[in-house]
Amino acid sequence: MPSLRIVVAEDDAAIRELLVHHLAREGFRCTETIDGPSTLRAVRAGTDLVILDVGLPVVDGFDVVRTLRREGRALPVVMVTARSDEVDRVIGLELGADDYVTKPFSPREVIARVRALARRGGLTADAAPVLLRFDRLEVDEAAREVRVDGADIGLKPREFALLLQLASNPGVAFSRTALLQAVWGFDFDGDERTVDVHVRRLRAKLEDEAQLPRLVYTIHGFGYKFARG
Ligand code: CA
Repeated sequence: MPSLRIVVAEDDAAIRELLVHHLAREGFRCTETIDGPSTLRAVRAGTDLVILDVGLPVVDGFDVVRTLRREGRALPVVMVTARSDEVDRVIGLELGADDYVTKPFSPREVIARVRALARRGGLTADAAPVLLRFDRLEVDEAAREVRVDGADIGLKPREFALLLQLASNPGVAFSRTALLQAVWGFDFDGDERTVDVHVRRLRAKLEDEAQLPRLVYTIHGFGYKFARG
């Protein structure tokens, strides 16, 4: 973390949701798009990697990747193909895709490709564990500790994951839904109040232990954000 941003471009809702489900559980931040133009817009708005269905409506995956390369965007692209005759074109070097998977694929396979590309590209997904410092607070992912003045304040696993998600992205507003997906995963059965309860506990521990100034801000009607450094 900060977690890698991935645009998942796929018009088949079942496949798209399957991918997003598994990627989000792995801590990736996903933006879903359903056709060529929305994919181009999402990539231009900023992302680290694209998973790109070849058979997208309006502008197909081949034209999307060509357009991105023409614009000088070097971000990794994983093409998803449905037909064996597409594979020949996908692996044609002139296209500029970095890797491909063929349908049907397992989500595990796609995640492995994404991780490999992220490593190759020096992206953040496989970077060293996070060590964040804010005044007297330290968030140490490797040790799974949150320390105030050097002393571990004993966060529970979800509290730790929630703080890590927020503190890795200072100043970024997260909706309750986004936090649920990032910290609890899509399988989680609870509702958005779960997030509120954990934020309350987190604040109590941070504040009780250290009288630290408020670090986790409420955004009314939306969610939470961590103080900007
Ligand atoms: Ca398709």
